[in-house]
Amino acid sequence: MKIVLKNLTKKFPNRNKKQGGDVIAVNNFDFEIPDGKLVGLLGPSGCGKSTTLNLISGLEKPTEGKIFFGDDDVTSLPAQNRGVGLVFQSYALYPHLTVFKNIRFPLENLRGEDKLSKEEMEKRVKEAAALVQIDELLERKPSELSGGQQQRVAIARALVKAPRVLLLDEPLSNLDARLRLQTREEIRRIQKKTDITTIFVTHDQDEAMSICDLIVVMKSGEMMQMGKPQDVYDDPVNLFVAKFLGTPPINVFEGKIGNGGLYIGKDRVMDIKTSSGDKEVFVAVRPEGFILDENGPLKCELGRLEVMGRDVSIVSKHDALLNDSGNIRSIVNSDNTVDLSLSHVGFSLKKHKVFVFDKETEERIRFEV
Ligand code: ADP
Ligand code: MG
Repeated sequence: MKIVLKNLTKKFPNRNKKQGGDVIAVNNFDFEIPDGKLVGLLGPSGCGKSTTLNLISGLEKPTEGKIFFGDDDVTSLPAQNRGVGLVFQSYALYPHLTVFKNIRFPLENLRGEDKLSKEEMEKRVKEAAALVQIDELLERKPSELSGGQQQRVAIARALVKAPRVLLLDEPLSNLDARLRLQTREEIRRIQKKTDITTIFVTHDQDEAMSICDLIVVMKSGEMMQMGKPQDVYDDPVNLFVAKFLGTPPINVFEGKIGNGGLYIGKDRVMDIKTSSGDKEVFVAVRPEGFILDENGPLKCELGRLEVMGRDVSIVSKHDALLNDSGNIRSIVNSDNTVDLSLSHVGFSLKKHKVFVFDKETEERIRFEV
C-alpha cells in the first residue's frame, strides 16, 4: 500500500506560553512512500517525526493537507479504521497478560463481519508469533522477557491484525546496543517477509541507513531530502544533510572559490569549475575522501592515529576546520603508514567525496569533477 502525503501540515499551539504563536511540527510535506518498502524518517529530536507518524496513523488530525493510502483518501478516517499497526519505543504490553493474550488482544475487539472465532484468533496469534520468532514464549508474562523479546511481542501485536501499513516510532531506543543491532536486522527481515509498507522513525542515522530502502531526512518540520540511503550520503542537497549522515561525521571547513580553484583556508585543494562565481563557501570532506600524500595540497597538523581494525583514522587539525570536535578524522586503509614523529601531514582529496555549500543558504554548490 503506497502512502501519499499532499501538502500535509500540522501546527500546534506553542507549549511555551511566553513565546506564544504556533509550532509548525510538520510543514507542507509532499511526498510518496512506495508500496512494500521500508522507509526511515530520520532527523534530530523535535523535527516532527512522531507527528508525521501520528498523522499517518490518525492519532493526530492535520491542520492542512491530505493523506492517501493507495487511492483512498484516509484524511478523515478514524485511526481504528485505517488498518495501521503501531509500535512505540515503550513496548506498552499488559503486564498481567501472557504473551499469547497480549498478541491476541487487538483481535478480541473486532466486531461484526470482522469478528473472529477463538480458533481463528489462536491461528493468527501463532502465525504472528512465529514471524517474530517468539513461539516458545507464548505462555510467559512480559516481565519474564528481555527488552528485545518484549519489543518482538509488540511487533507481533501490531502485525496480528494484518495491517496495511506498519508504523514504528523509535522502536529500538529502549534496547541496549547489542540488542539494538540484532532487533533492527529482525525488523528488516520481518518487513521483507511480510512486504508491508513500513515507516520506521529514528534519530539514529546509522540505524536508518543500515536497514531502510529509502530515508527521509527532516529538520525542524521540513523535509530536506528523500532517497536511497547511499544516494543521500553520496549526494546531499545541503550542509545539514551532509552533516547528519556518516560516522565519523563529515569534516567541515571554511573555504572559498576563487581563481578557478577551491580553497580550504589558504590551501588550494583542487581546480574547480562552477557556475556560482567566486565566493566564500563551506567545504565538507567525507572521512574516506582523504588520500595520504606528503606533497598533497591540504596541510594539516598531525595529532594521533586511531586504529579501527581494517582502517586507521588519522586525527589532525587545520586552522579552517569547523568541526565541533576540533579534529579532522580521515580514514585510510591500515596498510598506509604515517610517521608520527612529523608535526604535519599532507592530503590530497577525492573529488567525489568533497561537497561545497553556499555560506548563507547552506545549499549545495555543484561543480564539475
Ligand atoms: P520528534 O518525534 O521528531 O522528536 P515531534 O513530532 O514529537 O518530534 O515534535 C515536533 C515539534 O512539535 C516539537 O517542537 C514539539 O515540541 C512539538 N509538539 C509535538 N506535539 C505537540 C503537542 N501536542 N503540543 C504542542 N507541541 C507539540
Ligand atoms: Mg518522536
